[in-house]
Amino acid sequence: MSEFVLPPPPTVAIPTTEGGRFPVRRVFCVGRNYAAHAREMGSDPDREPPFFFLKPADALLTGGADMPYPPASQDLHHEMELVVALAEGGADIAEADALAHVWGYGAGLDMTRRDLQGQAKKEGKPWDMGKGFDHSAPIGVLAPAARVGHPATGRIVLHVNGAVRQQSDLTHLIWSVPETIAYLSRLVRLAPGDLIFTGTPEGVAAVVRGDLLEGEVAGVGTVRTRIV
Ligand code: MN
Repeated sequence: MSEFVLPPPPTVAIPTTEGGRFPVRRVFCVGRNYAAHAREMGSDPDREPPFFFLKPADALLTGGADMPYPPASQDLHHEMELVVALAEGGADIAEADALAHVWGYGAGLDMTRRDLQGQAKKEGKPWDMGKGFDHSAPIGVLAPAARVGHPATGRIVLHVNGAVRQQSDLTHLIWSVPETIAYLSRLVRLAPGDLIFTGTPEGVAAVVRGDLLEGEVAGVGTVRTRIV
């Protein structure tokens, strides 16, 4: 084997409740997966199959670290989400088998440069620079399904500076976790280490430097970051 011509990048990994770290391969995100959020973004939630975008794995921000306010935006929004971590991959995964592929769950934030995303939408351009920027995916400690089960109900909440900003329940997901895994696996071959951010409920809004974001998915875990 020949040597790398550059030092290879480090493996991105997320702390878990078990002590070991979860190695990340890819970060998939579902768009508009709660009806009330789809409506607040000007879409009809009844007519759409799920759609997906990605963030680079090294956009993940772990350990409660501060999030630097990103460049090129004046409208940074929070999106509080349940995150699924896959232990096993595959293509054409049946909905009934989907949960057997899950390692565990976490709470995450799909931070969004809403001004860049909105401009891209208007011009029919990709969302990547609105969604996949550096430090755009703060995430908490992951908990294994062996410990927390497969949550299909439970409160999902985000506090900003101690006040409730987003609040819903996992029962309001348009596409459930098994449906999402099955659908996505018909588009790409999923792999161990893949994450899926499952979408955000209503109440997305702008944050500014100094804001403290504290999110929780009941029975799963928490996520915390301060915008600096
Ligand atoms: Mn999102």
